[in-house]
Order: sequence, then structure tokens, then C-alpha cells
Amino acid sequence: MSKKIIISNWKMNPTSLKEAVKLAKASDKKDVVLCVPFVYLKEVKKVIKKAKLGAQDVFTEESGAYTGEISVKMLADIGVKYVILGHSERRAMGENNEKVNKKIKTLIDIGITPVLCIGEKERDENHDYLIFVKKQIEECLSGINKNLINKMVIAYEPIWAIGKNAFREATPAEFLEMKIFIKKVIINILGDKIEIPSIIYGGSVDEKNTRWFAEDGEADGFLIGRASLDSKKFKEIVKICETLKR
Ligand code: PEP
Repeated sequence: MSKKIIISNWKMNPTSLKEAVKLAKASDKKDVVLCVPFVYLKEVKKVIKKAKLGAQDVFTEESGAYTGEISVKMLADIGVKYVILGHSERRAMGENNEKVNKKIKTLIDIGITPVLCIGEKERDENHDYLIFVKKQIEECLSGINKNLINKMVIAYEPIWAIGKNAFREATPAEFLEMKIFIKKVIINILGDKIEIPSIIYGGSVDEKNTRWFAEDGEADGFLIGRASLDSKKFKEIVKICETLKR
């Protein structure tokens, strides 16, 4: 039986604790990670039994005079197991590869799984987007302990395929090509005696294309935005993943 990791990114939703708790209860399935807004973490933790708790960002420093920030230790203390890093929406607000690199190291040190998002804004005929993605991987993984690389998840999320203004979803073939490319770049950096981390797909995933990406695209799992806010769709995605053969 295949085992896919299904990571939901609720982003800045829903707008009340009551709705958040309801959605968490409905999404509480095995192999699921619920990345919820910071303010809902503690309450969501109380109601989930099978799913794991995730956050959508973390600060680079451990403690101190950093108004408004949340540290790795604070997240670990309340039971957070996964943190999304380098999401394109955060990169648009100033997150860069250098900060992501620092965050990856502090998260791995404390035993939280970083979910590193990478992906290009657009594709060009010269394939320069490959150079862009390669640079993201190299800078984000710089100086990382090669024995711990399997303690993270890499989410390939082409920006053009994300959100309600998505140009289109990627195709499984496009994802598979990138999955192979990402593996090669990681091996180039860390050598081939490593355990390759899970490489998952994100970008307009729903109950209609899940099987397609898992079977033809060989996605190790999914990072899901909009469909994770619709418990019916989300449960259907989880059900599809449970029935996959590989
Ligand atoms: C995302 O923003 O991480 C994402 C995958 O969004 P959506 O599924 O809505 O395209």
C-alpha cells in the first residue's frame, strides 16, 4: 500500500476558532498534516488524534527582542511537527533562500520537519526556470547535514499553478520531470549516499487530479491550499491516497 503525505495549508483561514476546530475534526486523518494559523495551533492540537500539527512559518531566531515573531522552540513546545517554509506567498513578503536555510537548520535541530517550498513563477522556452529552481535548492540546503536531509519534505509548487488565479495546474509529466531534476540537484550537492526526502506536488490539487499526480506523476504526497478548506474535497483526496497501490 502506498503512503502519501497530505499537507494542508489553510493560509489565513478560516476566520473563527469555531470553524477552525470544526475543519480540523473533519480533516483528522492518518498521514495528514494540518498547517493552521498560529492562533489556532493549541486548540487544533486538542481535537486531532490521527493528523499531525503544522505551522505556516517560523522566525529565524530562538528568542529575544523580535516583536510579533514566533520561534522554533515555541512551536516545538506546543507540539508542532511540521513547518512550511519558503512558500511563494511568504517569499513575496520578503522571505529569501538565506532565511529559509537558517530556518531549515533550526527546525531540523529541534526535530520539526521543514516543508521546503520551491518553484518558478513562469516557464520559459530556454528552460531558465530550471536554473532558478536549482538556485533555490542550492541556497536553501547550503550547509545542511546530509544525514538529516531525509528529515525534510520538499514541495514543488510552480507559482503559476497555485491559487484561484492559477494559469493552469501542472501536468503529472511536468511534475515527474521536476521530481527527477530536484533529486539530481540534491545528489549533486550532498552526494549519492543520502536518503532522498519526500518530494510532493502543490498547485491546484483537488479530488479530480490527485490520482493522476500520484500515479503518473509519482508524487510522494501533496501540499494543498484551497481544497484543504473544503472538508468534503479534502476527505475525498485522503481516500484516494489510501487506495493507491504505489
Ligand atoms: C498553495 O498555495 O500552497 C497551494 C497549493 O494552493 P492551491 O492548492 O489553492 O493551489
